[in-house]
Amino acid sequence: MHDTLHHFTRRAYTATLLLGTLLLTACAGGGASRVSTVDRMYVFECGVNRTNDLSRWSPGAHMGEAAAFSDNCYLIRHGNDLMLWDSGLADSIADMPNGLTGAGGAINSRVSKTLASQFAELGIAPAQVTHLAFSHTHSDHVGNANYFTHATLYIQEPEYNAAFGPDAAKLGFNPALYDKLRASPVKKLGGDYDVFGDGSVTIISTPGHTPGHQSLLVRLPKTGAVLLTGDMVHFKENWDERRVPAANYDKEQSAQSMQKAAGVLAANQAQLWINHDMAQSAGIAKAPRYIE
Ligand SMILES: [Zn+2]
Repeated sequence: MHDTLHHFTRRAYTATLLLGTLLLTACAGGGASRVSTVDRMYVFECGVNRTNDLSRWSPGAHMGEAAAFSDNCYLIRHGNDLMLWDSGLADSIADMPNGLTGAGGAINSRVSKTLASQFAELGIAPAQVTHLAFSHTHSDHVGNANYFTHATLYIQEPEYNAAFGPDAAKLGFNPALYDKLRASPVKKLGGDYDVFGDGSVTIISTPGHTPGHQSLLVRLPKTGAVLLTGDMVHFKENWDERRVPAANYDKEQSAQSMQKAAGVLAANQAQLWINHDMAQSAGIAKAPRYIE
């Protein structure tokens, strides 16, 4: 009896060990396949913004200093789907010899290469874009939004209400730039969102710059994870110092969003790609080259 029990116990123990090993293996394998990557990402130069006073974005620092901001758009290929993240300054600015001056003379915007021409160079039509999202609805991010009426728009509900509501102009938006999207299929979001359901592209809610500002976590096969900031932060020094631009919609939310983004970077071992950081953008390959 004792021997039988001993024998049974040992067999049970061995079986438990084996089962444990199998479960561990399954979890590790499952984890790896659950979070997949996109195929590639194109980065377009979608204009340049110049200012004669950088301190608008960095209260207390760089008073009266001139600066230039890059302005990128990002096209992500995921299987048969194409997702555009931000659409830059309007292509029509390319025809203006002195660019477009706004914000009471504080910002001059120029476009040297239209987004339409960069799409054409790739042999991709704007109508092929299936998924569309903007970090936020300011004119240097939705300038060419009206090209992409075939795509589903992914937007935080507070941003939708602000941008498509009656107070859009008061909040600094220019609805003419994205008016054609009123008829588009829209997915209104209330926080973070896994766009393709496989962890490869996640919209990260980072409000503050505007009511429903968002950032984008993209997993690339070779580069790894990158967090596309939108205007959650404008340049690296502001990130390091956690500075909030004076004109942001909600300063408290802006600070919390930077804190949240730092957590996202750490949890995903992700790089921070700051859209408007001219120095960093210069080091990123532009279309027709692509990032894997
Ligand atoms: Zn911007």
